[in-house]
Amino acid sequence: MIATSAPLADQIAATVRARAELEKAVFPHPKKPRILAVANQKGGVGKTTSAVNLAVALAKAGLSVLAIDADPQGNASTALGIDHGIGTPSTYDLLNGSKRLVECVQQSPEVESLLVCPATIDLSGAELELSARTRREFILADALTEFLAVNRHVEIIVIDCPPSLGLLTLNALVAADRVVVPIQAEYYALEGLSMLIQTIQRIQDYLNPRLEIEAILLTMFDRRTNLSAEVAAELREYFPDKVLDTVIPRSVKLSEAPSFGTSIFGHDPRGVAAVAYSMAALEIANRLAGAGEE
Ligand code: ATP
Ligand code: MG
Repeated sequence: MIATSAPLADQIAATVRARAELEKAVFPHPKKPRILAVANQKGGVGKTTSAVNLAVALAKAGLSVLAIDADPQGNASTALGIDHGIGTPSTYDLLNGSKRLVECVQQSPEVESLLVCPATIDLSGAELELSARTRREFILADALTEFLAVNRHVEIIVIDCPPSLGLLTLNALVAADRVVVPIQAEYYALEGLSMLIQTIQRIQDYLNPRLEIEAILLTMFDRRTNLSAEVAAELREYFPDKVLDTVIPRSVKLSEAPSFGTSIFGHDPRGVAAVAYSMAALEIANRLAGAGEE
């Protein structure tokens, strides 16, 4: 009895502590705009859920945020309640050069200081269409440089990447300063991680020397299983400075929220998952604010 109920009691106590901490917390503003790519070529690990909820958490905490959906599935656009039917100005138009970023962004219905560039299904053809373009890896980077030169209030850009290391993810990683890597706390979690790290290193060497891993975020963490704890321990051993203290628990509320076109903050704002994403966002904001002026 005690063995099965203790993790729940621990989690409730941790959530109460975190809620109290968040009430007092001040989210620092980065010294200059920061671009975060949420990437992992492994599918279904919580990239979109993390990109969406981190973006909303940061915006709700007073930062000016732009979320870019770079996945043809358009899941981030759905979860943020943003129109992304065919014909909607989107990341596809941005990448094929027919529109500027400022023409594609929509205001989030959920939080005022959040803008969203949606993805439509057209984006699924982009990899092939772009393959012959010159500077094809730099299209998003160039678009963001142009946007940020005019929209000086935007402080953090969060890019939701698709589950591959193709041209869309490459554009995101070339545009980004930092990568957030969500990892599902389950068996095979570490499979493919070395490939992602090699890819990031190659991009640092050849295309974007600024790029760094900002954070590894454990998702779908289940306190009742030894497996989640083992995955966490192993990751913390290999990447002691990268793994965030906060872990995102497995939560039905998180998986339900997109069907209402809202983040966890619109669906269950006081629950464990919202508190966890706010704490993760606070850790990220603190790290970004502490980063040098490189
Ligand atoms: P893809 O690789 O297809 O883009 P992804 O890495 O973006 O996937 P998500 O779409 O965020 O992953 O999550 C995969 C599924 O798991 C979704 O149905 C989502 O609602 C659910 N999910 C994500 N995080 C959690 C969580 N912490 N608890 C429960 N369900 C979750
Ligand atoms: Mg996704």
